[in-house]
Amino acid sequence: VVTPGPAVSVGPPSDAVVLFDGRNLNEWINSRDKSPAGWTVADGVLTVNKQAGNIETRRTFRNYQLHIEWRIPEHITGDGQARGNSGVFLASTGGGDAGYEIQVLDSYNNKTYTNGQAGSIYKQFIPLANAMRKPGEWQAYDILWTAPTFNADGTLKTPAYISAIHNGVLIQNHVELKGETVYIGAPAYKAYDRAPIKLQSHGDPSPVISFRNIWLRELP
Ligand code: MG
Repeated sequence: VVTPGPAVSVGPPSDAVVLFDGRNLNEWINSRDKSPAGWTVADGVLTVNKQAGNIETRRTFRNYQLHIEWRIPEHITGDGQARGNSGVFLASTGGGDAGYEIQVLDSYNNKTYTNGQAGSIYKQFIPLANAMRKPGEWQAYDILWTAPTFNADGTLKTPAYISAIHNGVLIQNHVELKGETVYIGAPAYKAYDRAPIKLQSHGDPSPVISFRNIWLRELP
């Protein structure tokens, strides 16, 4: 456990693609049927609507630097994977939870499997530190995503890499992914070109979490 420094909300630089600035969900759609996103925007904050399901960006991306802030409700309930579970899919490669997920969860005082805690590359890489703030406080992820590339026949050319910083603390250092993040079974790559970013609406019954200040900078 590493106690992070004070919370600072870092706004977008001039060349950023702003995905959520507190005003509306124009950059997002429902993953299931591409209809309006259906999550709640109030007081500059975006909150999960579990009835609506996962949402994803209208735009698609390859490599980028992403900033996203998230908050577990102060009075969160549940335990393990059923306590504020959400997730950021750096590339959504299909319906449901298909793609590459960095976990969002309350890991302040909550035991679960190590490669399923907040900041894990789900079921692949344990975070290097637990830098969680307590429920009710804002958390920040700053993520570098290098997308996998594929040969014309669909085989893997170069793997995906992730570096991630949680509340100013390095938690993933250029890890080479084994494939998409899957709940059960061995990860595998599946060819794609550009992909949306997806936010998870997890089926557990705990109170819904929120996001704010989401932006990225596209990289070569
Ligand atoms: Mg999740």
